[in-house]
Amino acid sequence: MIFKTDGLVIREQTTGERDRLITILTRENGIVRAFVNGGRTIKNKNSSATALLCYSHFSIDKNQKGIYSVREATSKEVFFNLREDIVRLSLAQYFAELAYELSPREENADEFLRLVLNSVYLVCENKKDLGIIKAATELRLLTLAGYMPSVIACESCGEYETENMFFSSFSGKLWCEKCKPTERTVKISIGLVSAIRHICFSQPEKIYSFSLPKDSILALCDLSERYLKSVTSRQYKTLDFYKMMTEI
Ligand SMILES: [Zn+2]
Repeated sequence: MIFKTDGLVIREQTTGERDRLITILTRENGIVRAFVNGGRTIKNKNSSATALLCYSHFSIDKNQKGIYSVREATSKEVFFNLREDIVRLSLAQYFAELAYELSPREENADEFLRLVLNSVYLVCENKKDLGIIKAATELRLLTLAGYMPSVIACESCGEYETENMFFSSFSGKLWCEKCKPTERTVKISIGLVSAIRHICFSQPEKIYSFSLPKDSILALCDLSERYLKSVTSRQYKTLDFYKMMTEI
């Protein structure tokens, strides 16, 4: 059976001497792993459109054993400028790893794909603070995957806002000044609470449209990353690499 779909290549591995196995975040079928036969040879016409972080139109064959292989691929966006900057490239690779971790298999993943594509596009364009793009991508992906932090109101009394509030990066819950629990929380400004609410609830095209002072962006990045690691219970090699690159 052959089906056609758009998708972003989020992982690539080599198999054998000539073939590659790629993982694609597709619009209609979520995450799909497919072989690119002869994909390691330069002459293969599908090579460039099946490279990591290429957004392409695919024609994919699923055989009777359930194994997928790419029949044809035509690139729609290769994010060329990413290749010029190791920091931005490593952040985009981190988004690819996150997409692999959180996106659905065998079901529609339109919103996931749109989010990751927008994020990679913004990183590539370099017109927006990378910290904002990173935190927005993490929190919105978690929201799409069913792990939205509980930030509508204070967990105990339902208070919508106090000047400062308290957030647990372990549970993703929020408390007001009066109800601050004994469990470990970080104190965050109401401006930061509003930014988190915006990321989780806004229309897809407006997710990144907010600004914060530099120190609040750092706080947002820190809590979003801690919450992500708490929910998914794992470390991310690409994140470690990105952070190493930003510290140089
Ligand atoms: Zn309260």
